[in-house]
Amino acid sequence: MNPLSFVVPFDVPAALAQIRAEGARFVAGGTNLIDLMKERVMLPQRLIDINRLALDSIKEDDHGGLLLGALARNAATAYHPLVLERYPLLSAAILAGASPQIRNMASNGGNLLQRTRCHYFYDVDVACNKREPGSGCPAIGGLSRQHAILGASDSCIATHPSDMCVALRALDAVVHVASQEGERAIAFGDFHRLPGDQPHIDTTLAPDELVTHIALPAAPQFAAHAVYLKLRERASYAFALVSVAAMLDIGEDGSIREARVALGGVAHKPWRVPEAEALLRGAPDPVRFGAFADRLLEGAHGQGGNDFKIVMARRAIVRALAMAVAGTHNNTGHASTVMARGAA
Ligand SMILES: Cc1cc2nc3c(=O)[nH]c(=O)nc-3n(C[C@H](O)[C@H](O)[C@H](O)COP(=O)(O)OP(=O)(O)OC[C@H]3O[C@@H](n4cnc5c(N)ncnc54)[C@H](O)[C@@H]3O)c2cc1C
Ligand code: SF4
Repeated sequence: MNPLSFVVPFDVPAALAQIRAEGARFVAGGTNLIDLMKERVMLPQRLIDINRLALDSIKEDDHGGLLLGALARNAATAYHPLVLERYPLLSAAILAGASPQIRNMASNGGNLLQRTRCHYFYDVDVACNKREPGSGCPAIGGLSRQHAILGASDSCIATHPSDMCVALRALDAVVHVASQEGERAIAFGDFHRLPGDQPHIDTTLAPDELVTHIALPAAPQFAAHAVYLKLRERASYAFALVSVAAMLDIGEDGSIREARVALGGVAHKPWRVPEAEALLRGAPDPVRFGAFADRLLEGAHGQGGNDFKIVMARRAIVRALAMAVAGTHNNTGHASTVMARGAA
């Protein structure tokens, strides 16, 4: 029996005071945390229901960007007219994830903080360094089909499961957080961590910090050529084996002026190598797309069960770039492809 208290603060200061209690956790949509509690993977002593906080708006900022409230639901975000018009990549990525029912409950803040889908992490009867530091990682040498090919460590080879976060990485989003010490802004690329020797820590968010909103900088130059390509085991309700968020700024002469590409399903955080993106400038060229893919995947390393992801990721990058050149309207929205088991 685990005693659990449940509190419902009505404003941010009250929530920030409550989170300082021993074993306290925020809960938003509950679509991840409650599952983890049922499996006894996470056992908070106090749940702080943040759904009454006024953090659910989606509004313009003063610089042509958008501010997404941490408690705005994934569905409300994906279908918001300004998101559809200015950030179609984000809409497509969110709609490629989960199911309509889950997206109606899932919040933007919770999406960022959802935990890995590594099956060993969910099984409290086996070791797992992320769940119990120092206990071991059975995925190394075990079942690794969903696992990382980039940025992994000897302690953990888990991937971050979010689709939304892959688009947010490409969009250079900024995560705004608050605690009793004040407010701060975290560049999206610094929000999630690589596992290193501390795989139990997923993000750079402190335990007493609340995500208040996510800022999207203006990016109108990319809206016409933005694609989210998700490759997975079945057409819906499955996490990415590999996903690609690709955004291109294409000039009137048809050449690529600027490109941004992030990968999902391959690492402990959305994977992006901004310095490599200059390789994509110039006339669209599949050979150059391939060279860029090689650079983005530099150092990729399989565990046997997930070796296929290296080939799959290379092909997906080249394909997503070709789709982005063709234009956002050619994006299917869900942008999913069913892959037969073992196929690359
Ligand atoms: C069957 C299933 C399939 C799914 N498929 C996909 C998929 O294909 N792609 C995908 O991207 N996702 C998928 N998801 C995951 C889903 O998107 C997440 O569960 C959801 O986004 C989490 O949001 P939530 O509000 O429910 O978070 P919660 O479960 O409420 O919270 C998750 C974590 O975030 C913390 N938290 C929440 N809000 C805040 C905040 N504002 N500040 C600080 N901490 C906070 C909580 O303390 C908790 O640790 C799937 C989920 C399920 C159950
Ligand atoms: S990959 Fe990470 S989450 Fe999975 S068993 Fe190993 S340590 Fe645990």
